[in-house]
Amino acid sequence: MKCPKCQMIVPDSTASCGCGYQFPNGESLHELQIRVDHLLRRGILFSIVWLAGFGSLYAFVNGLRARKIIKGSNGLLKGNFRVWWCFVMGGVGMLVWFPLFIVGIFNNL
Ligand SMILES: [Zn+2]
Repeated sequence: MKCPKCQMIVPDSTASCGCGYQFPNGESLHELQIRVDHLLRRGILFSIVWLAGFGSLYAFVNGLRARKIIKGSNGLLKGNFRVWWCFVMGGVGMLVWFPLFIVGIFNNL
């Protein structure tokens, strides 16, 4: 991987570069990418198998978490498209439920 500060190529397993740059959270980019992939894989899976329910919320939350990590990496981590997927699929799934919640609340007033 490439150090964002000095553009040096350093081994994937290193947590910091020779120039003093610390990779986010003291973890190597490789580990962070695995975490992002894990979050997004689960998010996408849940958004599909459990649409319009808890899965949509879970997908959305995982998308948020993954996006935060990707942003912290200065764009070095991959997964923006999958983050987008989690937001859209999770968002749509929740929107389906939102009117029902409102109706449910008003019916009980
Ligand atoms: Zn460096």
